[in-house]
Amino acid sequence: RVNRGDFMSALDEVHPAFGVSEEELLQVIQNGIIHHDPVVDKILQAGKLLVEQVRTSTRTPLVSVLLYGPPGSGKTAMGASIAQASEFPFIKLISPDTMVGFSETQKVAAITRVFTDSYKSPLSVVVVDNIERLIDWTPMGARFSNGVLQTLLVLFSRRPPKGRRLLVIATSSLRSILTDLGFAENFDSELRIPPISSLRSLDLVLQEVGLFQSDQQRKQALSMLAQAGFGDTDEMNPTFQIGIKKLLSTIEMARQEPESVAERLTNSLLDLRGT
Ligand code: ATP
Ligand code: MG
Repeated sequence: RVNRGDFMSALDEVHPAFGVSEEELLQVIQNGIIHHDPVVDKILQAGKLLVEQVRTSTRTPLVSVLLYGPPGSGKTAMGASIAQASEFPFIKLISPDTMVGFSETQKVAAITRVFTDSYKSPLSVVVVDNIERLIDWTPMGARFSNGVLQTLLVLFSRRPPKGRRLLVIATSSLRSILTDLGFAENFDSELRIPPISSLRSLDLVLQEVGLFQSDQQRKQALSMLAQAGFGDTDEMNPTFQIGIKKLLSTIEMARQEPESVAERLTNSLLDLRGT
């Protein structure tokens, strides 16, 4: 029988890994999460339910979720936020950014190691960020690392040992290729992270980051964008869409020119039309 003491010492054993991963996670969400649209809370809430499912259901020791959406829509930050909010004793981010220059063998080893480590903790979250980059997907000629792909497919469906529970959060901008690659039945659920396409969301982001000195300036910029078509909801022809990541960097660039913030911002956003 496992008693509370065993459980606590198990937590102690995995604690060093938690410290390291916490830093990584905090880094990817250092800009925080802006609640610019009800969908943001819906996604976080859906993530929380999956975390609770892993925590409480003995029937589902392995739960996996795919966060997908266009580049820069906030997939990594959302995945990291859901992971961090779990407060599970083992939380780890597998990111292509930390594997630059790795050989295929080294990648396979590093990825496998994270999962193997997670099996030592009673409750774990592993964020597998940007699947297409992890497998070195190249659209031209559809080449990729089969070794890494097979490793992920196996690990995504391997049940953790008895008494261990694991949530896998994967992210991708290329959901359509995942089916062809064999991930189709791999995820228990999928959550779409949409880009920003409404004036209201844009306004909330602008307010949150305090780009404009006055409400009047902000409203002026917004009405210029509205006239140019931002926020027109035409599903078939989405004139404007911008990922939160790009929007935030566009805002920071505009901020560099205090004299012409509004022009800089609107021009940069207008340039995105049709791209
Ligand atoms: P890529 O396609 O390049 O991998 P991504 O979709 O993973 O990009 P992130 O790297 O997560 O995007 O970038 C989103 C940035 O926006 C982060 O800096 C995050 O802190 C910030 N952010 C602010 N509000 C939100 C939000 N509601 N959702 C997600 N990220 C947000
Ligand atoms: Mg990302």
